[in-house]
Amino acid sequence: MSPALSRIPIHDVRKVAVAALPRSASSPLFERLRGAVGQVALRAPDAGEGARWHTHTLGGTPRRFAQPITFTPYAAVQPCSARCSFCSENLRKADGAVAASRLRPGAGYFEGLARTLRALRGVPLSWSLSGLETSDDADWMLQLLDVLAAGERDGPVVEDRVLYSNGAGFAAPRGAQLRDALQAFGLSWLELSRHHHDGAANQAIMRFRPGVAIGEQAVFERTARQLADAVALRLVCILQRGGVAQPADVAAYLRWAQRCGAGTVVFREFSRLDDSYRDNATARFLGTHRVSMDELLAACLDDADVSRGWTLDSLTEGYYFWNLRLRTASGLRVVFESADYGAMHQRHASGDVYKLVYFPDGQLCAGWEPGRDVLLDTRSDDSRNDEARNDEVLPHA
Ligand code: SF4
Repeated sequence: MSPALSRIPIHDVRKVAVAALPRSASSPLFERLRGAVGQVALRAPDAGEGARWHTHTLGGTPRRFAQPITFTPYAAVQPCSARCSFCSENLRKADGAVAASRLRPGAGYFEGLARTLRALRGVPLSWSLSGLETSDDADWMLQLLDVLAAGERDGPVVEDRVLYSNGAGFAAPRGAQLRDALQAFGLSWLELSRHHHDGAANQAIMRFRPGVAIGEQAVFERTARQLADAVALRLVCILQRGGVAQPADVAAYLRWAQRCGAGTVVFREFSRLDDSYRDNATARFLGTHRVSMDELLAACLDDADVSRGWTLDSLTEGYYFWNLRLRTASGLRVVFESADYGAMHQRHASGDVYKLVYFPDGQLCAGWEPGRDVLLDTRSDDSRNDEARNDEVLPHA
């Protein structure tokens, strides 16, 4: 078990009050799972659970950081090599905030990142490398890994290292170099997106740009197996109409994923939106192509051919998501997951810190919106003062 996960309390699901499970308890499927699953992991700390908050001063202000927490250096060096119609990076807030995917890193990006990491010295966190496609620019990705590795020697206390990728850079000419770099970095696992087991169906969903080799089915399968030899591989499939939507699709995807070397498959529903988003093409696509995770999971459980040999392991209650973890007879781990951006926004508005994102504009924010909930701005002199302050308060400094 990863260091961060080992600190998450696990409870007997029958002894946890439904009120303590606000996300999953709203699911019609929940009572059925509650009877069948032994354990629930409560990933988000309650406000009063002192041991699960880490207090740290940033920008002159003491903040409470939820434990566990992840840090994302938002990748946006160039537009993504794919153009998925459901891509959440193309959602737009009604208040007109700047979208992270529109920002591009400037010359001081890595210097600002290094300074941010020093300002987070002593904070337990995990790397969650995402945004647009990190591997699309090999030089940028390699420099990122170098800066993060250096940050681990003089910055936060890093627990897990996870990369979310569509795989494009790993099938490009410098793919082997990137793979080796991930191994040297000590990656905990790689979440590789592929939304259908059939190449043509996947390309209709992900719409890789012309000349992007990973779009080819044979290239993807070869690349996935090479990656699986180097790091723990999870395949991520976003459920949707026109994609994986029926129990038979789930069964076919699982068979194919195991041939690709995956040890885990994650089936994720489109995130549920609140009314803070504009009604743009992406939001409409989510509305028309949504496949309910609850309904598909229930249909799989009802289909003896699909779920024969499945062992239901546990439920996880996150701060804006919930999931069910199970194992198949062949040892594949499977996660069915659902997320709610409304719940995420409520948590982020609480004043406590549940997420850390370093944006291309040099700001560290407590969420996914540039310019909002800013914890540190590396373009200002204040962040230099922060480093000095954190130097002073360390007992061994
Ligand atoms: S691969 Fe990811 S970042 Fe790229 S378009 Fe698809 S969902 Fe968006």
